[in-house]
Amino acid sequence: MGEFVHEWGSPFLDQTPGDVEVGGTPRRVPGACWSRTIPASVPLPSMKLWSVDTANQIGIELKDPMIWGGQQQLPGMDCFAQRYGGHQFGNWAGQLGDGRAITLGQRTVKSGWVELQLKGSGITPYSRRGDGKAVLRSSVREFLCSEAMHHLGVPTSRALSLVETGEHVMRDILYNGQPAPEPGAIICRVAPSFLRFGTYQIHVADGQAEALAALVEHTLQTHFPTHHMNDDDGLIAWFRELASTTANMVAQWMRVGFVHGVMNTDNMSVHGITIDYGPYGWLENFDRTWTPNTTDASTRRYRYSQQPAIAGWNLARFLESMVPLMKSPERLQSVLEHYSIEFTRLHTSSWMSKLGLKNWTDSDGELLEELQNLLEEVETDMTIFFRELSHLTAPDITALKAAFYDPNQIPFGWKSWLERWWERCDSTPDRDAMLQANPKYVLRNWMAQMAIEKAEKGDYSLCEELHQLLKHPYDEQPGHETAWYAKRPEWARDKVGCSMLSCSS
Ligand code: AMP
Ligand code: MG
Repeated sequence: MGEFVHEWGSPFLDQTPGDVEVGGTPRRVPGACWSRTIPASVPLPSMKLWSVDTANQIGIELKDPMIWGGQQQLPGMDCFAQRYGGHQFGNWAGQLGDGRAITLGQRTVKSGWVELQLKGSGITPYSRRGDGKAVLRSSVREFLCSEAMHHLGVPTSRALSLVETGEHVMRDILYNGQPAPEPGAIICRVAPSFLRFGTYQIHVADGQAEALAALVEHTLQTHFPTHHMNDDDGLIAWFRELASTTANMVAQWMRVGFVHGVMNTDNMSVHGITIDYGPYGWLENFDRTWTPNTTDASTRRYRYSQQPAIAGWNLARFLESMVPLMKSPERLQSVLEHYSIEFTRLHTSSWMSKLGLKNWTDSDGELLEELQNLLEEVETDMTIFFRELSHLTAPDITALKAAFYDPNQIPFGWKSWLERWWERCDSTPDRDAMLQANPKYVLRNWMAQMAIEKAEKGDYSLCEELHQLLKHPYDEQPGHETAWYAKRPEWARDKVGCSMLSCSS
């Protein structure tokens, strides 16, 4: 067998309608799916983080900051910004688009196509009032988290590189009228494509049925070649696959305690993978009402517990945008039902593994609800709790002490819950399944913050340490326990960047 040859190509630009202008200032571009755009020049690009794993997967060897900082293009690259719209916090927001992302090109890999996209490389026709740039802090967060999520087994875009630009960018971190200069950076991220629910929605909002049809045809031909749009059956089959992959993504988020923070329809991938890492966060103390996003503090629309319902709501908006392609649009309802059934199935299956159960009965639903209530009664670390539960040899709460913020205040209810769980497992919880479902290491909010603060001083050692640590989140890695298998330190409780994040990036 010959070795696989990776090639650059432009199926998206070739198969969908685009902008006649190249680059240009922010404006509306009705009927287009993209605008060709060249990354801006930056003073001093320097390579700071590199994922060998991602590079190997997409057949890239050249670790050159000029390329991955957008200063030079390789032969075959054809740069563009994607046009999309979206519902933001429940309201239709009209045209958004890649305001600070520029795709370098599309490339063949064994499984199909991937898109390599820079984030933070300057103004595009979709930048609206933004500067198209990204700061180091948000770039480190996206680089580390997308790699960590991949190794946790959560579907996600990947990171290839992080380049510092050598220039400063003004940002008002908390949107409270105190802008300050921050170091700028550009990451290169990789996904089959960055097509979003909003990429389709915008054409319906604009009444551009032909553009919509071309976009769907491109999507199926290029990314879902086993599906077709010749009739309703073909479309419904693809929608069901999207419902399944989306349900799986959210079930995996719930399993590891990830909160996306901005589940707007423009941040929902048509591949059912996690994209657009912004003000995301991880549950430290288990709290179903928690959201990391201060912009969402008043309604907590995107809180942990609401993610499954929001993904369903977003899917409904996507399906509505497919009405013009359907002869019998009333059939779309069945896709939402499929989402709901699939989510319940996958969510149940991951809780079964988290609790080491071999099957699931109705009474397990009650056991789970009581568990979650108990976890919320006093501050209890989600990751440590489930990891220690995986090692229990008897239904004894003192063996789980490490998970409690105040070990002197352990709720009384645990004794009876643990005894019931132990009995339910016949004293033999499926430990292997538990150790694969309950990670030992996740990218806790304060871990990322510590790495960022060092990186801002020019020291990337902690970023590198976390990058390596999180490649094996289910391994014990005893040398790392004291530092990273740990509850949130007190300094991080109310700190910006840890428990409070905004969309400013
Ligand atoms: P997000 O909240 O990251 O999903 O972004 C929502 C929209 O705002 C997208 O269309 C982004 O491209 C755009 N956007 C966010 N930050 C900037 C920026 N600094 N410059 C230009 N556009 C931006
Ligand atoms: Mg976005």
